[in-house]
Amino acid sequence: MATVAGVAVEPGHWIGGERTGSHATFSSVSPIDERPIAEIARGGADEVNAAVDAARRAFPAWAATSREERARLLHAIADGVEKRIEELAQVETADNGALIRSHRRGVMPRVAHNFRFFADWLLKLGHDDFETRGHTNHVSWDPAGVAALITPWNAPLMLATWKIAPALAAGNTVVLKPAEWTPLTASLLADITAEAGLPAGVFNVVQGYGAEVGGPLTAHPDVKRISFTGSVPTARTIAAAAAPNLTPLSLELGGKSPLLVFADADLDLAVDLAVEQYDNAGQVCLAATRLLVESSIAEEFTARFVEKASRLTQGDPRDEATDIGPQIHRRHLERVDGFVQRAKEAGARALIGGGPNEELGGLYYRPTLFTDAPEGAEILTEEVFGPVLTLQTFDSEEQAVAMANGTRFGLAATVATGDPERARRVTERLVAGTVWVNCFFVRDLKAPFGGSGQSGVGREGGDWSFDFYCDLKNTVTAPWAK
Ligand code: NAD
Repeated sequence: MATVAGVAVEPGHWIGGERTGSHATFSSVSPIDERPIAEIARGGADEVNAAVDAARRAFPAWAATSREERARLLHAIADGVEKRIEELAQVETADNGALIRSHRRGVMPRVAHNFRFFADWLLKLGHDDFETRGHTNHVSWDPAGVAALITPWNAPLMLATWKIAPALAAGNTVVLKPAEWTPLTASLLADITAEAGLPAGVFNVVQGYGAEVGGPLTAHPDVKRISFTGSVPTARTIAAAAAPNLTPLSLELGGKSPLLVFADADLDLAVDLAVEQYDNAGQVCLAATRLLVESSIAEEFTARFVEKASRLTQGDPRDEATDIGPQIHRRHLERVDGFVQRAKEAGARALIGGGPNEELGGLYYRPTLFTDAPEGAEILTEEVFGPVLTLQTFDSEEQAVAMANGTRFGLAATVATGDPERARRVTERLVAGTVWVNCFFVRDLKAPFGGSGQSGVGREGGDWSFDFYCDLKNTVTAPWAK
């Protein structure tokens, strides 16, 4: 048993309702001070096979469990999360370095909501039968089987439960593989599901590295769905592993999203929206990292942005006053810095930041804003996944839309304008899974969520989640003899 931030965390896997270890372990290192905080079981093909087997055996009974009972159990899990919000917040902050204040007040309450939402949605799922030449069509959502869920480190429990809740609600059993940089809250969630009374084998966790656990999991013939959130290169590997079995995939990937600021926008709001893109130290898939600003207001926007961004407090994420915490890992910080240094070499100018925070040391990277990046530069087209933004200007709506759509990604876009007609014209032409107008990060689980282009395949949320996790079946019945 490890103790992290005063909380006991089981370091083993969770398979068939039991804790199991592995011969090998790996260290979870806190980004706050780069010290190891727990030794975690390092799974491989054997643990994957055991977990898929446990999930496969638990499936028929879980699939046959009434919707009401499944919903009740999901609400019981939500209750368990709500009771442990402080513990979950502390452990997540120690493990991934994101702000304690957002874990306490935003993220962990949302984790509980994820379970409640899909429990309630399940009870409303379905639509009326309809007739074809006197025949009755009845559409049913049959659970698909074992769902493999693979998640990243930037919002570990939040992103995992976006998948776990609908997968379980739909009647599937689950094998979760959390990111190796942030394994801890998944382990706490396993405790919570057990306390809530979820039957053994319905929810399983295998800890370990991507290739060692994710590899055999995504190639497993008994896995009927794969839902993955992470990077584009890993998505390609997973798609190839899934191909022989034709396992359906949901892929939530990276982005290089734009924030379009028109001259008619409320400038204070636009600056707030832009500075918000440094949240989670820039490690947010949806972040609008490309600021596209109408030329006529660019000077004033830039001055206000620099002034506001300079007031952000960087430091220990356990401090409620901190705005920007550390990067997740030294390897990640070096990757971010590589992008920044290459951008400078290509001729871009850092108006703020441009390197690690030397006063703080460790994994703290200064919020950075680049201008004058040459067209086609890597910094304008590749996802950095750190606190690094670029600013470019445009002179017309046409040009703004072309620039916004000018990457291979299409996860999100944000538009700041005071003109509803312009908002309509521009949003219609943007290629993105989510578009925000004069706001950012507002997400209702009813809405479809996902990316266009290389930002992803498929949509999750509301009915779309159930469409993915179920085998939809249409039963056509001829009229019965009178
Ligand atoms: P990653 O692709 O490196 O890892 C994600 C997960 O995949 C981890 O659990 C990892 O262990 C696993 N994995 C690695 N190799 C694997 C393999 N061969 N087979 C199966 N699984 C494997 O991504 P990351 O660095 O953890 O996360 C950052 C990325 O995630 C960014 O690109 C970010 O934009 C994206 N992201 C997207 C969303 C979204 O909703 N679209 C949300 C958050 C993060």
